[in-house]
Amino acid sequence: MEYRVFPKGGGKISTVGIGGSKLHALSSEEMVEMIDLALERGINIVDLATETAEVFPKMRNALKGRRNKMLLALHLGLTFQADGQYKRTRRIDEVRQGFERQLAALGTDYADIGYIHYVDELADYHDVFAAGTYDFALQLKREGRIRKLGFASHRAEISRKFLETGEFDLFMFSINPAYDLDPVAHNPLEEDLSALDALHVAQERADLYCLAAKLGVGITVMKPFGAGRLLDARTSPFGQALTVPQCIQYCLDRPAVLSCMVGVDCVENLKRLVAYYDSSREERDYSFIAGMRFEEMSGKCVYCNHCLPCPKNIDIARVHKFLDLAQVGDELARRHYQALEHKAGDCIQCGSCEKNCPFQVPVRRKMQEAAKFFGA
Ligand code: SF4
Ligand code: SF4
Repeated sequence: MEYRVFPKGGGKISTVGIGGSKLHALSSEEMVEMIDLALERGINIVDLATETAEVFPKMRNALKGRRNKMLLALHLGLTFQADGQYKRTRRIDEVRQGFERQLAALGTDYADIGYIHYVDELADYHDVFAAGTYDFALQLKREGRIRKLGFASHRAEISRKFLETGEFDLFMFSINPAYDLDPVAHNPLEEDLSALDALHVAQERADLYCLAAKLGVGITVMKPFGAGRLLDARTSPFGQALTVPQCIQYCLDRPAVLSCMVGVDCVENLKRLVAYYDSSREERDYSFIAGMRFEEMSGKCVYCNHCLPCPKNIDIARVHKFLDLAQVGDELARRHYQALEHKAGDCIQCGSCEKNCPFQVPVRRKMQEAAKFFGA
């Protein structure tokens, strides 16, 4: 087992953790088996941003008598509707109630980590402060009911703003080689994109990782496999599949990263995941990406948004990302898509984005596909 130490306040965290997005697929018995295996192999962190409320009593049962062996990460702003389905909220009464209910369902009185849940828009960022979530989070930290305070975001500019407050111990951020890729910022004067190397981290993201390291704020990674797309040659933007050890190692090599959170929906899945710890240095080596040329990556969106601006203000990268995630069963991505102000259905098929995309992604066709898939 490999551990890293929280830069603020100490304590160790396993370099691989269990993500919450698929835990609803496990029965009570499977949850016990999964926790048995996780603890046996030294995994000590579970994130509980789950799709359904039923995960919590199952987790409580699985952790009976050993709660203190597992770091539990809860989310402020995540609650559940009457039918037990996930809901994101900034209403402070719902934020409070959601947190208390999560603790009660787990049979515990504290969260090892409390993240302000999923903030990707500037207006939403301001809501977190104006509507009371931020103050509530600080209060919970003072009271010791949240041991380490964090936030979760997919956007570098939003993450930087949170970091500027100086109040956070860590944050959850989506990282993998495709999300990090920036095809143009590498050399704006270079016209022949096929001559550029593919393993270049977008400056904004590289700067964020360095800033976090400098401030002593840790990062936990979500989507290290791009919801599985990177593990399949048919969907990987790199034209070939990456392996689990390669993806995990890539994330762990970024500055400030503490742990990769991976969605687990069965015990076999966890067994494949912990195999990372038995992999050799050669098996973890992802450097083949550096030798790739953009021309070898044609046709697959890497969510870089160099295709903007769009006359209909569609965030093309996010539409692609949510479509890719939802098509492999990520229900949270479907809900996040529904919250977008400008949806794929707004596309007027003007084609200007396709002229700007370095990867020849058929954006117009993908917008039609997204509009059909999501119904808007
Ligand atoms: S369509 Fe092309 S330019 Fe736009 S986000 Fe995807 S890869 Fe980047
Ligand atoms: S084709 Fe659609 S997505 Fe692309 S720029 Fe035009 S309106 Fe926007």
